Amino acid sequence: MPVHLVEHPIAQDTLVALRDKATRAHEFRRLAHRISLILTMEATRKLAMVPARVETPLEGARGEVLKADIVVVPVLRAGLGMVDAVLELLPDARVGHIGLQRDERTAVASKYYAKLPAELATGTALVVDPMLATGGSAVAALNLLKDAGARDMRLICIVAAPEGVAAVEAAHPTVHIYTPVIDRELNPQKFILPGLGDFGDRLYGTL
Ligand code: URA
Repeated sequence: MPVHLVEHPIAQDTLVALRDKATRAHEFRRLAHRISLILTMEATRKLAMVPARVETPLEGARGEVLKADIVVVPVLRAGLGMVDAVLELLPDARVGHIGLQRDERTAVASKYYAKLPAELATGTALVVDPMLATGGSAVAALNLLKDAGARDMRLICIVAAPEGVAAVEAAHPTVHIYTPVIDRELNPQKFILPGLGDFGDRLYGTL
């Protein structure tokens, strides 16, 4: 089962601060960036590399450089809080955007925007969607990417619910999920418990 629990102590420490209801938007953004760096490191452990040679000030040295063509795809709007961290580590990554609106009553995700880079078949797509709740938005985003030709797709979240993990596994069994935690359950409004509340609202101070 391709769920990777990222147990790194700095990720776990950062998660506690993100959950804290007293954490304000500017601090929340900083923490979201920090945890996204760690999650991205884990999600990119296995990437295509090519041999390289470089001249140090003293002599030649052999090494390896990234070959992989990376596309990072934030699910709007909460996913935007994770993109800069991915680009900090992978500055050549291309960026696609998928806008999915969750109906507050039914929790069903519907697409209002999608702009994806071309030629996705040979690269690696990193979908960043911080709250994997019902899995509706993640599955919809992965469906769009698959229809656009993506094959190697990885999903990075900050909090996952068992329901969301199960939904992604059922719809996209080959997609690897990277998360620091799988929380207990969803509440009737489809918020994750204990969770951290509405990620987008906390990120942008729109509570
Ligand atoms: N989206 C959020 O921002 N929080 C949740 O708990 C579930 C979905």
